[in-house]
Amino acid sequence: MSSATAKENHWRPAYVGLGSNLQGPAGQLDSAFDLLGAIPHTRLIRRSSLYRSAPFGGVEQPDFVNAAASLLTQLGARPLLEALQRIEIQRGREREDVRWGPRVLDLDLLVYGRDEIEEPGLIVPHPGIAERNFVLLPLREIAPGLMIPGLGQLATISVNMDEPKISRIA
Ligand code: ADP
Ligand code: MG
Repeated sequence: MSSATAKENHWRPAYVGLGSNLQGPAGQLDSAFDLLGAIPHTRLIRRSSLYRSAPFGGVEQPDFVNAAASLLTQLGARPLLEALQRIEIQRGREREDVRWGPRVLDLDLLVYGRDEIEEPGLIVPHPGIAERNFVLLPLREIAPGLMIPGLGQLATISVNMDEPKISRIA
């Protein structure tokens, strides 16, 4: 077996942040969890509760529902991100969506194994982990002991007190 094949067969933990504020956000996230579990060479391991948060970034829009998922995957980080983007489009997300504007489904690759990646279109760990409570809190629920490459223990990253409150809904 070549080393390339061995690498492809290797299962890595990956963490995904989910968000929606259009077209029935809670239902959007429920089906998104199923679609994550259906990504080839990938298994859905854990799903967090759903959390409601006030919108961020000054655009007038409905509240968001956020969650996090843990996966085991044989895909590389880039093919995994592409799979996430295909799911966003399948669920009707428009590419021209405004940054921080309303969206049917947002799937962010938060953590991919121990990798630190900074490439055009792919930054891992996702910068939102330390900056946004709606990313931090669902992730902490499913992976309290997680070590975030370049950032340290997830448990030691503090909640941002200046942000609007987020609450667990389901
Ligand atoms: P945001 O999630 O920041 O509100 P988008 O979902 O519209 O915004 O993503 C914008 C771009 O972020 C995408 O084109 C994608 O290539 C890039 N990106 C970089 N790193 C990541 C990551 N870890 N997960 C998801 N998207 C990422
Ligand atoms: Mg995104």
